[in-house]
Amino acid sequence: MRLAKLATVPIGLAMALAMTACGSATKTVDQEAAPSAGSATGALVGVTMPTKSSERWIHDGDNVKSSLEKLGYKVDLQYAENDIPTQVNQIENQITKGAKLLIIASIDGTAITTQLQQAADAKIPVIAYDRLIRNTPNVDYYATFDNHKVGVQQATSLLVGLGLKKADGSDGDAKGPFNIEIFAGSPDDNNATFFYNGAMEVLKPYIDKGTLVVKSGETDFKTVAILRWDPATAQKRMEDLITKAYSDAKVQGVLSPYDGLSIGILSALKSSGYGTADQPYPVVTGQDAEVASVKSIIADEQYATIYKDTRKLAEVTVKMADAVLKGGKPEVNNTTDYDNGNKVVPSYLLEPVVVYKDNYKQILVDSGYYTEDQLK
Ligand code: BGC
Repeated sequence: MRLAKLATVPIGLAMALAMTACGSATKTVDQEAAPSAGSATGALVGVTMPTKSSERWIHDGDNVKSSLEKLGYKVDLQYAENDIPTQVNQIENQITKGAKLLIIASIDGTAITTQLQQAADAKIPVIAYDRLIRNTPNVDYYATFDNHKVGVQQATSLLVGLGLKKADGSDGDAKGPFNIEIFAGSPDDNNATFFYNGAMEVLKPYIDKGTLVVKSGETDFKTVAILRWDPATAQKRMEDLITKAYSDAKVQGVLSPYDGLSIGILSALKSSGYGTADQPYPVVTGQDAEVASVKSIIADEQYATIYKDTRKLAEVTVKMADAVLKGGKPEVNNTTDYDNGNKVVPSYLLEPVVVYKDNYKQILVDSGYYTEDQLK
């Protein structure tokens, strides 16, 4: 089992850095030459993102906007600070302003059905960005990562941290039993269920055998989900779990589906005395490879994260948008997995990658996603 060292980056500070970090992850992706002519040139594209409180969405928005502008499109980029009525208004405004295509990373994937009907009535195509939009026929394409695989990778990184598996997938030497707790993402985000299901597929056999023990007894999705992916809610839940189930035992692993939640969880653990040589942090997972969490991994606090190259997601989405706006058919690579309750939405899935302390340089720095300096 991994031995965590003393915390070297205060968690509050780490979080503040996450808010202000502006990295080379926001980078213009290579694009083909701008179209010389055609009715699509100069068209307005409406882009709506959930929040600026997480670094990844800032990178996503910047990358999509600059890539569209390179191709000659006008872009209206909006953030809604995780407030559903604000996002609803933003989409309505974009339709009123004459947007010719909408790219939407939704807050609640079921809350914009009316606006999407308005878009369909006005013949405005819609691309769901990263998160599937549910219960509507009026979403044309979906660009995302393999969300089920993200969940599998998160759970696998937990097993690796505990020594039950090796990073190559073979069995590890540890025997357990280990005490773990489980967190999931926002129940209104379709991705959260995919991450949870992928992770539970890996963890359940170990829980059934007693190798992993969830002392709180809280394992079902509804109980462990954190509304709007809010770090403070995760922190509070971790505090409550420690009080409820760990008066005479230690937490040894936490499945966390997002770096922001991991920061809240680590904060709760730190307040309860974890993060010292005598009482190391449990193995805590994550997602998004946000700067503060990569620093936390380097400092032996968080154990792992999942890297999703937002530059590639922006590139794929902009290619889709450009093809649709020119009356063509975009490339997709999945036409089976993303049923939104009304239809299977043709999708393009990108590959997520697990980041540990021993491979962050290769994956995040060598690829130019971050500079070494940003991670200091
Ligand atoms: C995204 C994750 C992100 C989470 C919280 C999900 O929909 O796929 O990358 O961690 O939202 O923002």
